[in-house]
Amino acid sequence: MKRRPLLAGNWKMHTTVIEACHLAAEIGACSAHLDDRDILLAPPYTVLSEVAHVLKDSNILIASQNVCWEQEGAFTGEISPTMVKSAGGVAAIIGHSERRRIFHEDNEMVNKRVHGALRFGLIPILCIGETLEEREGGQAFTVLEGQVREGLAGVSPDAMGKMVVAYEPVWAIGTGKTASKEQAQEAHAFVRKLLAEMYEKDIADSVRILYGGSVNVDNVNELMAQADIDGALVGGAALKAESFCRIINFT
Ligand code: PEP
Repeated sequence: MKRRPLLAGNWKMHTTVIEACHLAAEIGACSAHLDDRDILLAPPYTVLSEVAHVLKDSNILIASQNVCWEQEGAFTGEISPTMVKSAGGVAAIIGHSERRRIFHEDNEMVNKRVHGALRFGLIPILCIGETLEEREGGQAFTVLEGQVREGLAGVSPDAMGKMVVAYEPVWAIGTGKTASKEQAQEAHAFVRKLLAEMYEKDIADSVRILYGGSVNVDNVNELMAQADIDGALVGGAALKAESFCRIINFT
């Protein structure tokens, strides 16, 4: 099945308001002609609405880097799905390895966030990925299976069809070490097969699975050429218009 490529930039905890507006404008300019792929930016919460405003005449999608399961209330430091939507966001990254590793978010919390996003009409981008220790210990696929099954617990087939999954091996994030195209394809095929078991083949075939982990201008083409890699979630290389523009213009 042909899936529309999705290239996403995760700005993490980078950019002031002025820097974010400049970067968004440059990315808007270099992506205006791209009509065969989706481009998505996940800026910090503080600049979501500014970036959405700068890009209001573009096709670029805006996402938050996390999202709470509640709409409002006493959840200091969190952002609600309604807030993301009101700032111009249409999606939310959930379960990023930095959230899991540094802020101890587990599969159960990730699952609550997925349901929160879905309930309020945001597209969840569910991040999964094994650590180096898990890979070297032969546990990579068991870990991925747990993250997928628990992260998606209670998600209906209809909702699954709206979701995006991002395979991001923890050892490849921000390290300059990319999974080889074979390693990445193997993990993506595993996730797709698992989704087919949990849902239906048609649904599994329609879900976009992004690869993340030191994607750059030199490796994007070979990664994107893999059968089950439908896009990229880019961190470091998304912070410079020059590199992100070359990545999103992959051939
Ligand atoms: C990420 O933040 O999801 C990521 C993959 O980062 P980097 O591209 O820097 O490895």
